[in-house]
Amino acid sequence: MFPINYINTNKCINCMKFSSDIVIGLEIHVELDTETKLFCGCSTANAEPNTHCCEVCLGHPGSKPVINKKAIDFALKLALALNCNISSQLIFSRKSYFYPDMAKNYQITQYEIPLGKGGELKLKSGKPIGIVRVHIEEDPASLVHEGGMHVAKTVLVDYNRSGRPLVEIVTQPDLESPDEARDFMRELIRILTYLKIFDLNKGIIKADANVSIRESGYVRSEVKNITGFKEIERALNYEVERQRRAVKEGVHLKQETRSWDSAEGITRELRTKETEEDYGYIFDPDLVVTEITQDMIKKAKAELPELAQEKVEKFIEKYKIDKVDAEVLSQHLDLAELFERIAKKVEPVFTARWLRKELLRVLNYNKLTLEKSAIDEKNLTALLKLLIDKKITPQIGRKLIEDLVLTSFDVEDRVKKEGLAAVSDTAELEKLCKEAIEENPRAIEDYKSGEEKALNFVIGQVMKKTKGKATPNHVRKILKQLVR
Ligand code: ZN
Ligand code: MN
Repeated sequence: MFPINYINTNKCINCMKFSSDIVIGLEIHVELDTETKLFCGCSTANAEPNTHCCEVCLGHPGSKPVINKKAIDFALKLALALNCNISSQLIFSRKSYFYPDMAKNYQITQYEIPLGKGGELKLKSGKPIGIVRVHIEEDPASLVHEGGMHVAKTVLVDYNRSGRPLVEIVTQPDLESPDEARDFMRELIRILTYLKIFDLNKGIIKADANVSIRESGYVRSEVKNITGFKEIERALNYEVERQRRAVKEGVHLKQETRSWDSAEGITRELRTKETEEDYGYIFDPDLVVTEITQDMIKKAKAELPELAQEKVEKFIEKYKIDKVDAEVLSQHLDLAELFERIAKKVEPVFTARWLRKELLRVLNYNKLTLEKSAIDEKNLTALLKLLIDKKITPQIGRKLIEDLVLTSFDVEDRVKKEGLAAVSDTAELEKLCKEAIEENPRAIEDYKSGEEKALNFVIGQVMKKTKGKATPNHVRKILKQLVR
């Protein structure tokens, strides 16, 4: 009835030949940004513990799961974005184990036939990392150890999380350093946000990392529950060092599962590793096999947005912008899209530079995302046009961007009303320069006796008089003519 086509994700990597000093493979769980859970209508929103549950996600006898179509669409998009081959059937299995976080005593997951397999993700460096599989599964409940796992006397269970949709991504052991693992996570998160299937502010992304080193003959440990890309680098650096120290001290490393303690910055032994066979997988008889038709795949493919790496290439090729600017602008989809829209109206290299340097500076300073700021395309375009036409100085431009991030206003109006237009009128500037020369005789003397720097002080005084509405270069030119 079912094709017996097992993919053993737990193959003994000790028997494989490696060439690098460090070998890392990742298993990453991502919470998909759906409104309801994977097999019931319960909300996925954060709420008081145990208020978003029903008989299905609590595993009551007789309850039947019904698949969330949105979760399939999301996972399918991700599998396609990671260049996986898509299975023609969607098949779920039960992974049996006993633990308080799983009321049914089994987790519904995909084992024998994952949604996608044989994919690839390219790191920023261009190095391809193989994707073994992408599959859908339900999240267990969360266990709360008040005060920390090592001091809590009781464990609380919150079933709100039980049954939320996850997608699991398993890589080949192609990563050769904690750095590369961090880059992988960063790139994956960028793809997830471009696909709009993961909410970085609300959703959880967790990695389990298999890591081994040459010195031990590649005896691996699996480090569980690492959150985010900064943590993954830290956890792996610690674990690699721990293994190296152990080998040096003559300790015989064994295959084991360890937990990452982020607060203390160490990994701890959890258990020696069980094998996949121990879970006694069986196909779930409650869920009918769903066909994944060529039409479904075609439709999902058509809906795939241009991904960040494609945008970077396009920005460099088509708009001729700097590689670093292209990378930074592509980090967030909304910023990349804003850039592309403005670049149709204002010179792209100039636009890219201002968005990256000034807009991002102000957003970061105010701890705002583009979405939550008051920035709108029309005002920003107007501002950049004034800048590129030299109708306002960069100094005034920077000040206006600082205001535009916080409140929306008509830029041209503001420039007119507050008289912020650049002073390009040489006669007027000359008048101000003459004043400054008279007011600062000592600096002028110093300059005349060969101290170039003394002139900068006088330029500063003129800039003050114009309230930033002149460019320093223009002022310097006039001053030099006057002081000759
Ligand atoms: Zn439910
Ligand atoms: Mn899993």
